[in-house]
Amino acid sequence: MSYRYILEPYKGIATRHTCPTCEQKKSFSRYIDTENKVSFPNHVGRCDREEKCGYHFIPKQYFEENPERRESFSDYQPTIQRSFSPMKEKEPSYIDSKLVESSLSCYPKNKLYQYLSSQLGEDETMKLMMKYKVGSAKHWEGATVFWQRDIAGRVRTGKVMLYDPESGKRVKHPYNHITWVHSLLKQENFNLKQCFFGEHLLASQSNLPVAIVESEKTALISSFYMPQFQWIATGGKHGCFNDENLQVLKARKTILFPDLGAWEDWQVKADKMKSLNIEVEIFDFLEKRATPEQRKEGYDIADFLLEAKQPTAILQDMIKRNPALKILMEEFGLVLDNSSKNRVNPRKKTGFRL
Ligand SMILES: [Zn+2]
Repeated sequence: MSYRYILEPYKGIATRHTCPTCEQKKSFSRYIDTENKVSFPNHVGRCDREEKCGYHFIPKQYFEENPERRESFSDYQPTIQRSFSPMKEKEPSYIDSKLVESSLSCYPKNKLYQYLSSQLGEDETMKLMMKYKVGSAKHWEGATVFWQRDIAGRVRTGKVMLYDPESGKRVKHPYNHITWVHSLLKQENFNLKQCFFGEHLLASQSNLPVAIVESEKTALISSFYMPQFQWIATGGKHGCFNDENLQVLKARKTILFPDLGAWEDWQVKADKMKSLNIEVEIFDFLEKRATPEQRKEGYDIADFLLEAKQPTAILQDMIKRNPALKILMEEFGLVLDNSSKNRVNPRKKTGFRL
């Protein structure tokens, strides 16, 4: 049996690319259509660093997200069923809750904890770690594990990353320090189905609008500054936007906060969400206002929030430049309040302080 969509065969170095997840050069193979009718975007493919990265985005996922691009889909049989290509009918696998619980410790050594404490204070950082159930991992000294805990509280996997405690940036040299708990555990037949980071929070406080960002760290920081939203992270530009993942957002007001440079991609995601009857707005403040340096650095909302000396002024500016957000805020009953020195109780619908 032959397959229509295959990983591009090796024909010299030009056929191997930089992985969109671990950013390793020349380690990424893209999918091609042997009939030359469908051309896939660059992130549809597989990283050959199976242990360290494991990224694998198959054509089936792409067609699920972009049904209009589907062409004689019935021809398609996935060549490989592996971690990133779970069969729909199979139940997801979960990580042992004892392992997860045991990771919720050793915070003083955790480099992300150290960084956030320097920015937000230790008490507030600890609250964030508990709220999002972020753990510590020994894989690298001081590493952080972001558990993907689904809306039912079950853990799908964990992403292990290492941060620089001074800058708060991810350690990418001599290699990108990112790996996955399910790959480290080497469990047979593990059926990976990723979910949003912070998804478990959607089970409570269902009145809060949901704010979606790319990075887990950004969700933590933004949740500190803007507790009026329920912040969750996709874990990547292309993560968590298939029909199955999006089910948890049904009947929720949702606002997307793309990183600088990702706006167009997320506009496509927003359209898709609308087609699933999810109420969604996209926040384009960063895209409209960023300086060239910020653009080069690939700023996201958390970078702006951390940098802002007067966060309230920033928010007013955001609203001035983005009337859609103002409407959204008003609809949510979020009112600007310059006088308030205290952080607003998210359940109280008066006063909004950034
Ligand atoms: Zn990779």
